[in-house]
Amino acid sequence: MAQNLRSKRVAVVGAGYAGLTAAVSLGQRGIPVVVYESGPVPGGRARRVTTAGRTLDNGQHILIGAYTTLLGMMRTVGADPDALLLRLPLELRYATEFSLRAPALPAPLHLAVALFSATGLTWSERFGAVAFMQAMKRKTFRVDTQVSVAALLEAHGQRGAIARYLWHPLCISALNTLPQAASANAFLAVLRDSLAGSRAASELLIPRVDLTRLFPEPAAAWLDAHGGEVRCGSPIRDLAALRSEYSDVIVAVGPHQLGPLMPGIAEHYTYQPIYTVYLKYPASVRLPLAMLGLADGIVQWVFDRGQLEGEAGLLACVISAQGDHQQMEQSELVTTCRAELSLALGLLPKPEWTQVIAEKRATITCSPGLERPGPRTSLPNVYLAGDYTHPEYPPTLEAAVLSGIRAAAQIA
Ligand SMILES: Cc1cc2nc3c(=O)[nH]c(=O)nc-3n(C[C@H](O)[C@H](O)[C@H](O)COP(=O)(O)OP(=O)(O)OC[C@H]3O[C@@H](n4cnc5c(N)ncnc54)[C@H](O)[C@@H]3O)c2cc1C
Repeated sequence: MAQNLRSKRVAVVGAGYAGLTAAVSLGQRGIPVVVYESGPVPGGRARRVTTAGRTLDNGQHILIGAYTTLLGMMRTVGADPDALLLRLPLELRYATEFSLRAPALPAPLHLAVALFSATGLTWSERFGAVAFMQAMKRKTFRVDTQVSVAALLEAHGQRGAIARYLWHPLCISALNTLPQAASANAFLAVLRDSLAGSRAASELLIPRVDLTRLFPEPAAAWLDAHGGEVRCGSPIRDLAALRSEYSDVIVAVGPHQLGPLMPGIAEHYTYQPIYTVYLKYPASVRLPLAMLGLADGIVQWVFDRGQLEGEAGLLACVISAQGDHQQMEQSELVTTCRAELSLALGLLPKPEWTQVIAEKRATITCSPGLERPGPRTSLPNVYLAGDYTHPEYPPTLEAAVLSGIRAAAQIA
């Protein structure tokens, strides 16, 4: 076995969170790896971008405590999660009447107290939500594969404020898909591992550094120190040359990028956008907390980057999944965000600058019964990794990291 591993030399295509995790995972076993990345920096759909002389993320991201594999990987490569992420108790506060905060109590008490002390819910909604969670627990968080999130919630009487402020935003944030089109099982996997998990699992973790510094750069440095290499600006146009040079190849490109390399695997997917609208206000503009919900327009969440990365006055408005905003010009998007922020926070001054980053194919549509490819392909010694390949999780950073570990395990 050790002999076999010594003869291996692996190429990974794509330096997103999946490809880098696969590479580190192989590096831990002493297998030399070269990662080929077409872009100028590693990170893929979670990366730093420089635009108009400013360094921003391609989109605001949020992690949860349940992302234990990603957090473990960060520690492996020397990226300290406690320093690089702001860890907050589960707290969903909206500019309107709803707020929910989990107290420092062991699970599941933290959730029960959070629901019963929340503002903006009726008593029947609180009891109904607890009953819903218990019913899902009895079903081990699995239902028929064809059921949508909307159908599941409707069947369990989850309507009104609890749906509007808790279940729908959770579905859209985690699955990047509207409840009527979203897979109930992917949603339930998230509920199982977060709200129904330990208190730490439901905590919110918001990056304090850019997304390339969070994990990709430390991972690249770790690889460098362990006999590997990340080559940015190195697009791979076909696999034949790589296959003749390396014992194995892991293809860790986005599903929308797979076609030219491996046709026939990802053509059935449709995609959902995520827009991030950055607005730089004077430094005195500050949110009451790092992340605030807005429920009455196109913006779902607004983040105060001043409280996260230190650029006071910089707000990031997040608009996930499909919607009317896709038809808007950038100037109209900015005007709408400004109006929604002013409504929520009181009249705000004119921003000093704004920047819209539209990721039109941010993730696959996480629909019911969606077929996901496993790590194996029809080509010998060619494996797949990527957020879309995880069998049950929605396309997230954690799914990407898990898929990287799984692909590496096929080789090692
Ligand atoms: C705006 C936005 C917000 C998001 N918010 C969240 C969030 O809050 N929480 C969360 O968990 N997830 C979030 N996600 C999803 C998360 O970013 C993705 O699930 C994850 O980054 C996917 O990682 P990956 O490695 O599977 O794929 P990718 O990140 O897409 O990596 C693929 C890499 O392959 C490279 N590549 C492609 N073709 C080639 C080629 N031919 N040769 C060489 N290299 C190639 C690409 O440049 C890319 O770097 C968000 C995504 C977006 C876009």
